[in-house]
Amino acid sequence: MLKCKNINISLKTKKLISNFNISIYHNEIWTLMAPSGSGKSTLLKYILGNKESDFSYNGDIYVNETKINRRSITERDISMIFQNDLLFPHMTIIQNLNFVNKSSNLKAIDLLKENKLDHIANSMPDKISGGEKSRVLLIRVLLLETSVILLDEPFNGLDTETKFKTKDFFNKNLLKFNKIALMVTHNKDDVIDNKKILNL
Ligand code: ADP
Ligand code: MG
Repeated sequence: MLKCKNINISLKTKKLISNFNISIYHNEIWTLMAPSGSGKSTLLKYILGNKESDFSYNGDIYVNETKINRRSITERDISMIFQNDLLFPHMTIIQNLNFVNKSSNLKAIDLLKENKLDHIANSMPDKISGGEKSRVLLIRVLLLETSVILLDEPFNGLDTETKFKTKDFFNKNLLKFNKIALMVTHNKDDVIDNKKILNL
């Protein structure tokens, strides 16, 4: 379970996030909806463990009942797809995935094959489509094998049809690997599970 308890974030004197609370269990994909500039990315980065100097933060974060506030990013059991996330441009898709993969259980090529993406294994990032890139970014975080996955506007820039298929891909894979997922977005078309929406 991911539990956020009374999280408050201010930017200098401006309050961005007030008393944010949520509990997310395994196999749940929650969406936090709020307009641009409201502090969504800042909140996800705080949960991940990436604080920035202009902000003041308080509130507790628990992963599987353990308070993780004082832990470093790599010890939190949380990973994230960042807003406008990038692949290394000078590496092929499979090289990008193998670069991060420390898992002894999962092989990048198997995940590509299972998802019918092995034809792009040797492509360069600038030669794949937006929908393929979103899927590769999800496979990359799955390879990190954390319990919690944070998703910051992961479907930006996709057309309606591609977004629909990509959401289905995210839903299937997050459930298959038993993840705890929190997505933030300003766009209601991005929502994966309509029963699990929170407005900021
Ligand atoms: P959202 O993701 O909801 O669009 P952000 O969390 O990116 O919102 O930004 C919230 C506010 O904080 C905005 O006013 C933005 O300009 C500001 N901001 C974002 N990142 C920084 C930073 N590193 N330093 C100072 N201000 C920032
Ligand atoms: Mg943002």
